[in-house]
Amino acid sequence: MKWLSSIKNRVPQLSLWRKGDASRPALEPHIIPRDNHPISRKNISDAALKVIARLRSAGFQAYLVGGSVRDLMLGKHPKDFDVATDARPEQVRELFRNSRIIGRRFRIVHVRFGPEIIEVTTFRGSHEPEEAEPPEGRRAPHGVAVRNADGMLLRDNVYGTVEEDAVRRDFTVNALYYTTADFSVRDYTGGVPDLHARLIRMIGDPATRFREDPVRMLRAVRFAAKLNFTIHEQTAEPIYELAPLLSGVAPARLFDETLKLFLAGHAAQTYELLWEYDLFPVLFPATANAIEADESGIYDELVMLALANTDRRVSQQKPVTPAFLYAVLLWPALKREFDSEVAKGVPVPLAVQQAASTVLSDQQRHISIPRRFSLPAREIWELQWRLPNRQPRRVQNLMENPRLRAAYDFLLLREEAGEQLGGLGEWWTRYLEGDENTRAQLLKSIQGRDGGRRRGRGRRSR
Ligand code: ATP
Ligand code: MG
Repeated sequence: MKWLSSIKNRVPQLSLWRKGDASRPALEPHIIPRDNHPISRKNISDAALKVIARLRSAGFQAYLVGGSVRDLMLGKHPKDFDVATDARPEQVRELFRNSRIIGRRFRIVHVRFGPEIIEVTTFRGSHEPEEAEPPEGRRAPHGVAVRNADGMLLRDNVYGTVEEDAVRRDFTVNALYYTTADFSVRDYTGGVPDLHARLIRMIGDPATRFREDPVRMLRAVRFAAKLNFTIHEQTAEPIYELAPLLSGVAPARLFDETLKLFLAGHAAQTYELLWEYDLFPVLFPATANAIEADESGIYDELVMLALANTDRRVSQQKPVTPAFLYAVLLWPALKREFDSEVAKGVPVPLAVQQAASTVLSDQQRHISIPRRFSLPAREIWELQWRLPNRQPRRVQNLMENPRLRAAYDFLLLREEAGEQLGGLGEWWTRYLEGDENTRAQLLKSIQGRDGGRRRGRGRRSR
């Protein structure tokens, strides 16, 4: 990118930050004037511009920040716009009727314009002096960050200046500020040269910052996959050791993060990176075990194929559902649990039920899965054992099942991944696509084949 090469060699004195010293925020920003960067107001949402204008006319500072500036600098379309300001949440709230304060860990204001939400955050300050978690029953003094024994930040509502805010952000490429005062971009941490070098680099000491918030490990992977960037060596290094800290993160937050990891259009790449950094087994322990124990590689292939499919659907702007995603991500665990139930002599339908319950409840201890997604995932699984049963009445029932399509897609993935299912996917493809005649013939072909084997009450069907 031309504009980038022109500023490539004019990097601010960042040696300070590179050594991981996050305690000296008196840093002058490197200012990239409007002619030297590609951001134009045309590409910024009107809602974000309105928020910035109103904050500024009320006497506050307001910048566009975060992923939107990063993406605009790269010539991409941001998916949403974040604004940072020195106005306190209550002050922001007063300026916008259509707004509400959310969050506890970080209080932020959501300003709504029709379907669009602009996230407004107050500049965060530095954490000194650091406080341990107060004894039970005592509240932390206002404006103090609270940590647990692992160094994890439990609350972080300390406000500060824009410079302090910059060094509290996660990665250098996420800490660029765009201002409409002179349409320049302000870079306090070396984000612009890192954009050029395509690097995800933690601001400050990586291990400390990962301990403060282990989700940053997932964010590093997510941005590396999304932008096709490399995680800087020193940022990557502590991840292997700190990965287990993710199990201390609230399951509800991990649910949100997994959707961002797998439904944002770069799931296949993300999945590979999660394995590479030892993060996948912390998120999905039972699935990871099943994949590692499976010498055929079929489970891993199934997940990869499904995620590549999901990415394709996202790029075609087709809907993707967390239910299908979870059905895929937990299938290896389910199948393994099912096999062990059957080996114990549990009859098949019951084994499916029990395996599904076990796998879902074990997984919920790590990542919460709302029932509106776990129920359909369960149905997709159960249907895998009903699809082979092709007596006419059963097929008719299946045709009325709202989950048939998803279960059929799932079946095709299993076959594509290498499971031997005796042409079952092909049969269903022809049935679903066929006219009445074809369907009748397909049913007949099955009756002919299975007829002699059916026993007992099954004979009732014609
Ligand atoms: P996306 O393209 O997914 O929206 P984003 O960079 O905007 O990416 P957000 O989750 O929207 O990510 O967060 C906005 C900004 O807030 C980030 O760019 C980063 O500067 C800061 N931020 C978000 N989460 C964290 C975190 N866990 N630790 C430190 N800074 C964070
Ligand atoms: Mg964002």
